[in-house]
Amino acid sequence: MFFNKKAQEEKPEVVILSTDVYACLDNTCNGWMRKDFVSVDLKCPLCGSDTTLEVRDLPEILM
Ligand SMILES: [Zn+2]
Repeated sequence: MFFNKKAQEEKPEVVILSTDVYACLDNTCNGWMRKDFVSVDLKCPLCGSDTTLEVRDLPEILM
């Protein structure tokens, strides 16, 4: 009846949330940033290109 209890305890709690992010428009760049941590000018933190708002499923940040 409780055979699954041990596995559940060992499994880390990771909550996946649909998160607003700004992704780089440069196809050769993988830069993106969470909406909560965007740069002031909304430029890509890696290459400085423009970014576009999109939604990604990301692990919740525990602060
Ligand atoms: Zn970029």
